[in-house]
Amino acid sequence: MPGFVSPNFDLSRSGEAKHLNVLTIEYMENRGLVFIPDISGFSRFVNETAIEHAHLIIQQLLEIIINANQLGLIVSEVEGDAILFYKFGNPPSLTALYKQVETMFCLFHRGLIAQNTLNTCPCEACTTAINLTLKVITHYGEFTEYAVRNFNKLIGKDIIVAHQLLKNDIEQHEYWLVTQSLIQDHTLKGLADWIPAPRKPKAEKYLFNTRS
Ligand SMILES: [Zn+2]
Repeated sequence: MPGFVSPNFDLSRSGEAKHLNVLTIEYMENRGLVFIPDISGFSRFVNETAIEHAHLIIQQLLEIIINANQLGLIVSEVEGDAILFYKFGNPPSLTALYKQVETMFCLFHRGLIAQNTLNTCPCEACTTAINLTLKVITHYGEFTEYAVRNFNKLIGKDIIVAHQLLKNDIEQHEYWLVTQSLIQDHTLKGLADWIPAPRKPKAEKYLFNTRS
């Protein structure tokens, strides 16, 4: 966040004006892909060990997801159990997106199976991690990246749309949700079973693909 000088701060008197850093904010209007994988399934643990182990498991899974990146996606930030990826420019083909999502799902579940196989901890988090699920939200639209020093933040209506789509009425726990913005003229033939979503939030049509 940009720093602010308090109204009572007298620069002339403090003699610190020359040390005051001017934070520049560069805005860049653009269109791009918003890609959010979101892990769910852990309930709220009461046990301290379980809470700690749940965090470790999620952290490892998030790393697996980041390392599964094949599309040159950029991590904007980790938002709890989700990752906000983005990429400016023309959208990738639907097939390329599908392959990316598939790779993430496969590595995610491979990671869970490995955890389950090697696990010797009896805590609630470690013994139930195998039931964790992954959903991926993909959307294309307008958003802006603003940089303050080393931090990149994304703002824009389509960042909001993508986040709204995380909270939806879809009953399945594991799916890839694609907004109409990415479908456009691309054919869906050859992809796995596509099901029109039962409800659409705010004029956004989307499809999802169950992976259960
Ligand atoms: Zn444990």
